[in-house]
Amino acid sequence: MSELRELYQTVILDHNKKPRNFRVPEHVTSEGDGVNPLCGDKVTVLLSVEDDVVRDVGFQGSGCAISTASASLMTEAVKGRSREQALELFDRFHELVTGEKEPDPAALGKLAVFAGVRDYPMRVKCATLAWHTLRAALRGEHEPVKTE
Ligand code: ZN
Repeated sequence: MSELRELYQTVILDHNKKPRNFRVPEHVTSEGDGVNPLCGDKVTVLLSVEDDVVRDVGFQGSGCAISTASASLMTEAVKGRSREQALELFDRFHELVTGEKEPDPAALGKLAVFAGVRDYPMRVKCATLAWHTLRAALRGEHEPVKTE
């Protein structure tokens, strides 16, 4: 188990150091802003949705290692998915980090690295910030997301 935990930490540290899709996509069709006041994390999620499919996704902002790694892994996970599939993945991820349900490894893939945050309620907000912001952007909500 500790080896697994180390692997998880390695993935999170890697994505924090080299965030994927930390950029503004070319044809942004919707975006969302999120803030986690408890930790000071800020994220903007930018989507390029075409024919109801997330063709491209990027993010901007700054925050702790968990929030940055989560945003990075989120962008990798939702790219190429339909709006509906992306919203479903939000639900799976939320269940994972809140511990509401046992994670389904097939549905979550690499995102399973965040299973450990369920033991740290403060960190759950860091891990879900980018996802709540993604959901708002997918739904076309313009109110900034606040995790409180
Ligand atoms: Zn944080």
